Amino acid sequence: MNLIFLGAPGAGKGTQSEKVCEKYKILPISTGSMLREAMKNNTPSGIKAKSYMESGDLVPDELVIGILKDRIARPDAENGFILDGFPRNVSQAEALLKIGVNIDAVINISVPDEEIIDRLVGRRMCEKCGASFHTIYRPLKIEGKCNICGGKVIQRDDDEPETVLKRLKTYHEKTQPLIDFYEQLGKLKIVIGQKEISQTTSLIFEAIEEMA
Ligand code: ADP
Ligand code: ZN
Repeated sequence: MNLIFLGAPGAGKGTQSEKVCEKYKILPISTGSMLREAMKNNTPSGIKAKSYMESGDLVPDELVIGILKDRIARPDAENGFILDGFPRNVSQAEALLKIGVNIDAVINISVPDEEIIDRLVGRRMCEKCGASFHTIYRPLKIEGKCNICGGKVIQRDDDEPETVLKRLKTYHEKTQPLIDFYEQLGKLKIVIGQKEISQTTSLIFEAIEEMA
């Protein structure tokens, strides 16, 4: 089973992707996490991506498409995967069609802008395992430490209020058109993001069962 999760930054794609992958034993693939990892390790891709990511812009297509292609070709992706954060514009979606991987469904997690801003500004992230938390909605058990792996929890640079607004703008301009793109291919499922993480997870499971 291969899925795509669409939705604004902070809609919960990463968190939900973890849950769904656990249940179906498939691989979560987040281009954002891969790019952050590359940046941390100062790889050539990481160095190229840095300025775009810090300003809330999309990283150039050829760079992300290259990273994604390599990742889905690895053996651990054979059972299936969830793409979180890819594709992010129409040309990336077309590139994915060209690669020829079959996508079973595209799940759009829909959350209003005001709530997105609230979520992102309070969001915290584990440096080690990438899990995300929220000062109010998903608090840490121990200050500064990841509930899952004990790693150091930080605020992402791009979760600063000004960058959050830029990312939302980028989302509306570049990524939202993908909703129509996948609707026309008959692949789209819409899930309304709920306040409770587990409620959204249930709705996603229902959407997946419907298409199976
Ligand atoms: P969020 O969904 O919260 O914005 P991500 O971790 O998915 O966070 O992405 C963080 C940043 O990484 C984006 O703002 C963008 O600069 C870059 N990025 C991630 N995926 C892509 C992609 N498919 N195409 C271009 N840039 C990307
Ligand atoms: Zn962690």
